[in-house]
Amino acid sequence: MSNPTLGIIGGGQLGSLLAEAAKKLNIETVILCDDINAPAKNFTTNFICGSYEDEKIINEFISRVDLITFEFENIPYKVLKNINEHKTVLPKPEINKLVQNRYTEKDFLNKNDIRTTRYTLIKDEDEIKINQNLIPGILKTCTLGYDGKGQYKINSIKDIDKNIDFNNEYILEKIINLKQEISIIITRFGHQKYVVYEPIENVHEDQILKHSKIPADISDSLKEKSTDWAKKIVEDLDYIGTLCVEYFIDKNNNLYVNEIAPRVHNSGHLTINTHNISQFENHIRAVCGLEKIETKKIHNGKMINLIGSDISNYRGKTFADNEFFYDYLKTEIRDNRKMGHLTIIEK
Ligand code: ADP
Ligand code: MG
Repeated sequence: MSNPTLGIIGGGQLGSLLAEAAKKLNIETVILCDDINAPAKNFTTNFICGSYEDEKIINEFISRVDLITFEFENIPYKVLKNINEHKTVLPKPEINKLVQNRYTEKDFLNKNDIRTTRYTLIKDEDEIKINQNLIPGILKTCTLGYDGKGQYKINSIKDIDKNIDFNNEYILEKIINLKQEISIIITRFGHQKYVVYEPIENVHEDQILKHSKIPADISDSLKEKSTDWAKKIVEDLDYIGTLCVEYFIDKNNNLYVNEIAPRVHNSGHLTINTHNISQFENHIRAVCGLEKIETKKIHNGKMINLIGSDISNYRGKTFADNEFFYDYLKTEIRDNRKMGHLTIIEK
């Protein structure tokens, strides 16, 4: 059987890196994105620009591909479900529906005996007042938040911001005494068949990922527990493709799942240079039904996100042979926007 043509929804840096990995495997990609300046235009074989809600555009996209994946989870469920009736979407749209809402995501985890921070659903201001046991807490929109967007810190009920729009649903989540953050990238190919990368240690600044490194400076028991939970999550979801689990570790070394990203993830960018097979290539292999190859670490390393104007210090620079610079080729530099990254490997 010849290689399939892969449709990818979303044309940001993750779409770009997926398209590059596909190219390496001789798989053509068609990227669909609503941004005419999508950076992935520079990396994909074919590009379609249009709204995810435009039936004509969607039909064109469907007709040009054999199967479909996505780079971000916030695609409306009805769009993915409709596409899936014509061409297979992987991971399954139902998984997206579950994790694109923080409340249903956390309920799913707790039902499967996986610890999260304490939380409750909030529909109005009064519900915050009756849940003072979760203060100090963070109010987070149930849907569409990323990089700390749609979040309000609540130190006391006097703090409730008058600008909070209660037309949206929120969760109120207890703030924990955070010691470290880690993530696990896992690619599942089928029942009990997966590649699990070792835990990656992450540092956020202003709620945006700044650095990621391997090995994570954590105990063997935390390594084991985080790995077991990641395997349990992909099995419970009957997941196909690469997924990221983000964890918190508190000052007492308790482990919590923060969130699940049903896709390749920024903290896994270093796998391009530290492993023989990256999170992107494994994702493409899994969704396209290619062979699972033993994935090995070749180097330890660290990834630095280049955010906003950081990128200007790197464009045109010469790099050492253990440094790998990725420019996402975004047309406009904006504050808090991920513009590129640098990975430094230990030789
Ligand atoms: P996003 O979906 O925007 O990534 P997260 O829920 O992952 O939002 O929060 C972003 C960051 O904020 C986390 O990586 C962590 O550093 C901090 N944070 C979020 N929730 C909590 C919490 N309950 N306790 C302590 N820190 C938190
Ligand atoms: Mg997060």
